[in-house]
Amino acid sequence: MNETTEKNMGTGRDHLVIGWLYPELMSTYGDQGNVRILLDRAKGRGISAEARIISLDSPAREIAKADLLFMGGAQDQSQKIVSDDLMKKKSVLEEAVKRGVPGLYVCGAYQLLGQHYAIGEHTKMPGLGIFDCHTENPGTGNRMIGEIVLEAEVPGISDRLVAGFENHGGRTFLHNSAGSFGKVKSGFGNNGEDGKEGILYKNSIGTYLHGPILSKNPALADWLIGKAYEIKYGLPVELASLDDDFERKARAVLLKRAGIR
Ligand code: GLN
Repeated sequence: MNETTEKNMGTGRDHLVIGWLYPELMSTYGDQGNVRILLDRAKGRGISAEARIISLDSPAREIAKADLLFMGGAQDQSQKIVSDDLMKKKSVLEEAVKRGVPGLYVCGAYQLLGQHYAIGEHTKMPGLGIFDCHTENPGTGNRMIGEIVLEAEVPGISDRLVAGFENHGGRTFLHNSAGSFGKVKSGFGNNGEDGKEGILYKNSIGTYLHGPILSKNPALADWLIGKAYEIKYGLPVELASLDDDFERKARAVLLKRAGIR
């Protein structure tokens, strides 16, 4: 921990609010675990943290109060319900993303923040248009399922290898100069064709990795916490290391199975 940050912590000022978007509708394959991990890892550094649920009946201003945002994945039906609600709150979410509030948006959530999500030839769900990408689901039941490893293109992350599990029918395509979350080393990624996985826009990450992703990638959890702290207090924070032995072992299994380490 550097001196500046140390002075600014433990003064009662250091408190992070995690805005947990639509947990009852958007939480497949263990995604809810990501919130527990963020809370634990913040508290492990003496930063108090709380998760606030933001859902169908929450006013949009709750989004603006969050220091870090998280939304998990879902099947198409839940996605439609959330899409209709989130459309009304779009400007507040967009403002937060543009302000640099860090966020993790998994699978269905990633698709929702894009321009649109098309299923087959006849269904097109409008997206929020915050991420410069769109998703097409051929609707044939041909899904991209399996373990995945990528090399993150996230400036400042302390370990670029990110491992997880993906399960999606949608194929996402990035537009123009949108940067990916990482390069696929093993697995399908955004669409199984261009070698890209997810999107990185400002401090927000869209990704297909479930699992939950943060359980095997503590460096990513810390990157999100660090950014949340930095945006809120205007100070970079150097997070003390934690005992990540269990996480390291889980990663090692996945990386070995992918033939990477
Ligand atoms: N409904 C989306 C798809 O199948 C997202 C699935 C998910 O979030 N796991 O592409």
